Amino acid sequence: MMPTLTPRLQRFLDRNSHSMIIDGDSIAVSSDQTIAVVNPATEEVIAHVGLASAGDVDRAVSSARLAFDNGPWRTMAPMDRERILLRFADLVEEQADSLAQLITLENGKLVGQARSSDAIGASKTLRYYAGWATKIEGSTLDLSLKQKPGKQNFAFIRREPVGVVAAIVPWNFPVSIAAWKIAPALAAGCTVVLKPSEETPLSALMLGELALEAGMPAGVLNVLTGDGATTGAALVAHPDIDKVTFTGSTATGKQIGKSAMDHLTGISLELGGKSPVVVFDDADFEEAAKGIAAGIFRNQGQVCVAGSRVYIQKKHFDRVLQDVCDLGKKMRISHGFDPDADLGPLVSSQHLERVKSYIGKGVEEGAVLESGGKQVARTGYFLEPTVFSSEDNQKVIIQEEIFGPVLVGVPFDDIEDALQKANDTPFGLSSSVWTQNINTAHQMIDGLKAGWVFVNAPGRSDPNLPLGGYKQSGIGRELGRQGLYQFTTTKSVNIVY
Ligand code: NAD
Repeated sequence: MMPTLTPRLQRFLDRNSHSMIIDGDSIAVSSDQTIAVVNPATEEVIAHVGLASAGDVDRAVSSARLAFDNGPWRTMAPMDRERILLRFADLVEEQADSLAQLITLENGKLVGQARSSDAIGASKTLRYYAGWATKIEGSTLDLSLKQKPGKQNFAFIRREPVGVVAAIVPWNFPVSIAAWKIAPALAAGCTVVLKPSEETPLSALMLGELALEAGMPAGVLNVLTGDGATTGAALVAHPDIDKVTFTGSTATGKQIGKSAMDHLTGISLELGGKSPVVVFDDADFEEAAKGIAAGIFRNQGQVCVAGSRVYIQKKHFDRVLQDVCDLGKKMRISHGFDPDADLGPLVSSQHLERVKSYIGKGVEEGAVLESGGKQVARTGYFLEPTVFSSEDNQKVIIQEEIFGPVLVGVPFDDIEDALQKANDTPFGLSSSVWTQNINTAHQMIDGLKAGWVFVNAPGRSDPNLPLGGYKQSGIGRELGRQGLYQFTTTKSVNIVY
């Protein structure tokens, strides 16, 4: 079951302890508290990391502060920053196998997906933002201020790095989401303290080591290991943080927002989703069914933009939902290193129990269980791809984020009905629409309250395509130019001459 690990990963795992990265060094946490990292396919502990205390957080933030205020990063020629980020991207790509295997060990996901989405995805994001380092610009302005005779204005806006960034990330795409934050922050000239999830700290440490190997100066990228309640909370509440960029659940995002407000620290929040997929009568049903299944079952449904509610126009409801059930039933469930696997384990026993409890709630509240729904009888946190149907859009399994391979199908009458149902949750992250009719597509694009709309495709990220939420799915946008600007601030200047 265990593949041959790359020599680099084997050496990494052979270490007795996994220290944090602060000021360019491996630093052990100051307490003796540790967190066990568990392989979700085998339920075995693969490593322990330290739980960073408030004191450790302070040390990391001080290092990032010093590197920002006095270090070479911010003042370096943009092309030199670009060169280091490109080297970092190359190293991540070269070490894609090591990173992918490590992610599969700590997260459970299929190694091929860990390689393409996380490792290669992160190298693409780093490369994309490396290019931005040389393209950050301000603007000049004409003012209407009256000047004394013989005097004139010259007014301009400078775009500056925001300062020290706290980047807090979840476990579902541990390396690619980390790159969505650190790449633009570093390109802008900021310094960063990265806090990965307690479920997946190892890949973030390997990423931090690759940054140092690429020539990142000490203190520019620090990596803290720890949990949310102690380490994450201390990081957000630290008065010397200029910006918190967070990806995770809506509940945690709200807590972080409140804490950041105590020091008026800037925030951007990428939060949960309950993304609708809408299939019209004129859709290519075969493609739609494949897209729906990929959208909800990929990464075991642990995807923020997963299409977890499917609205199908009444006439073809049964047929389309049946096709999705059939695709789910055909999926091979196995560990992430099995080349034939389509679905791996969920990330942890706690998360599996949470998803199972939603399945129980769905049955209790009278939704029809069309397929799946059971834990797989084997070691590890495996769950069948699950499909429900319901006429009632207010059911808990339709309103709340489950974050597992659980889809609910609901029939609809016409565009108005589809839009009303699709928009009727507290979330607004992603959406997709399946239709051959350009007018229908545009009406849906106009009406959907979501940061992403994909037509005739499930949602997929690209470094140049901003991602972010309407409503309770977040504040701000990640990726693209907007993702860079969240790590900059502006200074308005007027010179009288
Ligand atoms: P989570 O909110 O439990 O944890 C996310 C991170 O926050 C972890 O590093 C955790 O240690 C830290 N944290 C927890 N409590 C904290 C606190 N009080 N202060 C500071 N940090 C704290 O989320 P999760 O279970 O790791 O991830 C799943 C969630 O992430 C889902 O809701 C999913 O939709 C969301 N997500 C959103 C996006 C997006 O782009 N919008 C992308 C991926 C995942």
